[in-house]
Amino acid sequence: MNLLIMGKPGAGKGTLASILQDNYHITHISTGNIFREEIAKRSPLGLAVENFITKGELVPDELTNQIVKSVLSEGDFPNGFMLDGYPRTKDQAMALDLILAELNMPLNFVVDIEVEDDVLLQRITGRRVCSQCNTIYHITLHPSTKIDVCDVCGGELIQREDDKEESVKNRIRIYNQKTEPLLDYYRQKGLVVTLDGRFKREDVFEFVEMKLGVTHGNN
Ligand code: ADP
Ligand code: ZN
Repeated sequence: MNLLIMGKPGAGKGTLASILQDNYHITHISTGNIFREEIAKRSPLGLAVENFITKGELVPDELTNQIVKSVLSEGDFPNGFMLDGYPRTKDQAMALDLILAELNMPLNFVVDIEVEDDVLLQRITGRRVCSQCNTIYHITLHPSTKIDVCDVCGGELIQREDDKEESVKNRIRIYNQKTEPLLDYYRQKGLVVTLDGRFKREDVFEFVEMKLGVTHGNN
């Protein structure tokens, strides 16, 4: 099953994706994670994108499209893929259509996670991410057992540079302007299903069964 996961910053795209990856073995592809890994490695790509990301601006379409194209062309997705954080602009959506047509990997659903704006800021500013494995925590809503240490791998938990308030506001504004309109495009194709952003783990299984038509554990 091939999915797009859409929703404002802080809606829970990464959290949903990791539940789906663990339970349904759908491959999670996050452009944000890819960029952050490249920045950590100080690679040429990382250096090229670092400034945009820190400010909460979008990485240019051409660069982003190239990366997604190479990940999708080179990867192997026995149970499908989920794109998290891509596409974010009309240009990216058009590029993705071409890439998927070429690779003969059609989209099955676009999952739109819906959350009220006031919840987003609280979620994002309390968010901590494992610097090693990208597992997501929240200082009050979902804390790690030991402060600042990842339960999964023991890595150090950090706050993303772009999770500070100024950047977050910029990211939400850009989402409303450039990304939200894409939902209409996918609605016209009949692909959009919505998920309430207050979801718990169990809700995800019910959502997958009821709205995506997949039984737990067998893809
Ligand atoms: P969020 O969805 O919470 O904003 P992401 O991890 O998806 O976080 O993205 C973090 C940042 O990475 C974005 O603010 C942007 O700078 C950059 N980025 C990620 N995906 C894209 C994309 N498809 N196009 C342009 N920039 C992107
Ligand atoms: Zn970890």
